[in-house]
Amino acid sequence: MRILVVEDEASLRDGLVDLLGGDGHDVTAVGDGLAAVEAGLAAPYDVVLLDLMLPKLDGIEVCRRLRAARPGMPILMLTARASENDQVAGLGEGADDYVIKPFSARALLARVRALGRRAPVEVIEELHVDGAILDLSRLVVVRGDARVALTPREVGVLRWLHRHKGRVVSRGELLEQVFGQRGDLATRAVDMAIAVLRKKVERDPGAPKIIVSVKGAGYAWGLP
Ligand code: CA
Repeated sequence: MRILVVEDEASLRDGLVDLLGGDGHDVTAVGDGLAAVEAGLAAPYDVVLLDLMLPKLDGIEVCRRLRAARPGMPILMLTARASENDQVAGLGEGADDYVIKPFSARALLARVRALGRRAPVEVIEELHVDGAILDLSRLVVVRGDARVALTPREVGVLRWLHRHKGRVVSRGELLEQVFGQRGDLATRAVDMAIAVLRKKVERDPGAPKIIVSVKGAGYAWGLP
């Protein structure tokens, strides 16, 4: 399997590379959160081993960003924190499983193998809508000759609306599920993000067909 190891502690990182490499896996290792997002967006992995406490971007945020762009990629959180809340937070952001440090080599390999064996979740990589191709795995919109880059969060919004087509998605729901925030004031931020996203994906942002507004309620996927 192709495995991405994200761990800032060099001795543990090297240990994991040796352990997993010795188990026959093709291992890439990085030492901070930004490098992890970069690596995970550049190529798919069969399993991501993700430390929770990381420099530059913590494991929760890395998980959120990778999840938005690659929902089917299995993520195993490594955490030194034993509190139940932290574990739940990690799983809430889309981690598939977690192990608490220090862990035994045998236990870790068993978890990695179990995650890798799991049938991949069906993930939509491309949507052909209103003359545009939304390439969700490469984070780009193609309309004719024009190519526009999408952010992981924008892909998250598109995936969420598409997955829940046929019903209205409230600003609060988008805020919580995609932006990872709560609070009434911040719903304005959702409107601004949608306005930017429409300029990227809609043929005519003034008369949107893909992301439609539902007055007083929120947004909905506007196509079949
Ligand atoms: Ca760490």
